[in-house]
Amino acid sequence: MKLKNYKPLDTDKIMKQLHNGKAVSEKAVEPSLSQIPSVAHRRRQSMMDNTNYKYAYSRKKLILHDKDCESVKHISDEDFEMLTTFDSQMALCSACYRKMLIRATVVNQPRKINLYVKAFDRLCCGNKKLHKLLFDHKAQLIDVDPNSLTIIVNKDKWLFQFHSDKLELYHNNYVVNDDLTRTFTPGFHLQSVYREPRYYGLALSEIISYSWNAHLKKEKDSAGSSYYEELKAKFDTVKNYKQIKESKYHITFQLIDYNYQALRFISGDKIVVNIRGPLPCDYIGRDEPFAMLQCRVRKSDVSAFKHAMKLLKDHAFSNKEYEYIEVCQTMEAEL
Ligand SMILES: [Zn+2]
Repeated sequence: MKLKNYKPLDTDKIMKQLHNGKAVSEKAVEPSLSQIPSVAHRRRQSMMDNTNYKYAYSRKKLILHDKDCESVKHISDEDFEMLTTFDSQMALCSACYRKMLIRATVVNQPRKINLYVKAFDRLCCGNKKLHKLLFDHKAQLIDVDPNSLTIIVNKDKWLFQFHSDKLELYHNNYVVNDDLTRTFTPGFHLQSVYREPRYYGLALSEIISYSWNAHLKKEKDSAGSSYYEELKAKFDTVKNYKQIKESKYHITFQLIDYNYQALRFISGDKIVVNIRGPLPCDYIGRDEPFAMLQCRVRKSDVSAFKHAMKLLKDHAFSNKEYEYIEVCQTMEAEL
């Protein structure tokens, strides 16, 4: 039987190749100098492969990027540097800022960074809120898959489950001990269900305020109510309005509304001549219950207006909307 296309091995030729192999191969693959991976290039590769290194920058430009950022590809091997931690003191690339924030707090599965980013996109979480959640509240991102996200905030573990028609928020199980401390037990219970994608961001507000309340309670139970009092004092001193214009008979104010309540307090007394808003404001996220308004008040009504603004602040405080005061402080600090 003869196999089609079968050619006997040309052993002579093979032996020749083997003998000359070294010389041949050396000549054939002798790379030009530019093809040898330089020490700098190999250093870059090994850093990029190491998940401990999260951010990259050029020694010449000193702008920090997420390691996945397109701009990183344009950094030369010689100038290439990486960091393991997020350095907010450096100039930060705006294109990859969001990914940098998220990567800083990923504890498990760093290679799934894009799924983490996508989960926060689905939660309609703006960068300001993301920063607050991840840094002020020290959230840790511990698990992700295409339809869920698990994070820890102030010891509590939260699981977001995305469905086609709703978002479910689960909270870790726990039992309350006699001394009011909690012991965590395995598993989760359903905390809330959100049915409108545009309100999914409220799920994040919910866990932020849960963390605040847990914190407040702890502070109240241990060191008297010092922390709570401090916060109340802050609410009392910070102004939620700012004078921006004055004419012969009127004063125009800018104010921070909370939950559409401003009109209720100021229109009740018919003290506003003219109101506009919400005005574009870069420190109020789309998903936050705040808005900046502008209103013109008769000079004779200014004290009634200020009283209405105090009622608005009290309303926010009694609703535990502690972020309100931070937004007001930002307005105060703005020129
Ligand atoms: Zn970048």
